[in-house]
Amino acid sequence: MRDDLRRVTSRRWSLERARPDGWLLTSPYGSGALQLDPAVDEEALPPGIGAEEVQQEFVDEALQHVGDRVVDALADHGMALRCRAHAAPLTVCAGRWVCDSRAAHDVADVGSLRRGHAEVIASSDS
Ligand SMILES: [Zn+2]
Repeated sequence: MRDDLRRVTSRRWSLERARPDGWLLTSPYGSGALQLDPAVDEEALPPGIGAEEVQQEFVDEALQHVGDRVVDALADHGMALRCRAHAAPLTVCAGRWVCDSRAAHDVADVGSLRRGHAEVIASSDS
């Protein structure tokens, strides 16, 4: 995720573990603590799911959580991560960056986002 942000903005981002349950996000626009709640809602898991799938759910959930916090942190600085093709916000879902436009397409796997996919721009609604 950090590499995604670095590639898209050509600037320095870092995401470091700060405390057992927190991360420190340092962006070109400032830094702040990300409070993460890594809990997975086990009731939401399909019944009969295997251990590997549970593991995958944890990873997906964690990525989604970090993605949400990163998007929030950008918004705090008046910035937004947008799909280049549709100028729509990106969110993380099931380990992928997803475009929130009507096309609702997968943009890239988290960790594979490139400059051609997305850009960070000053958001108009803040
Ligand atoms: Zn798009």
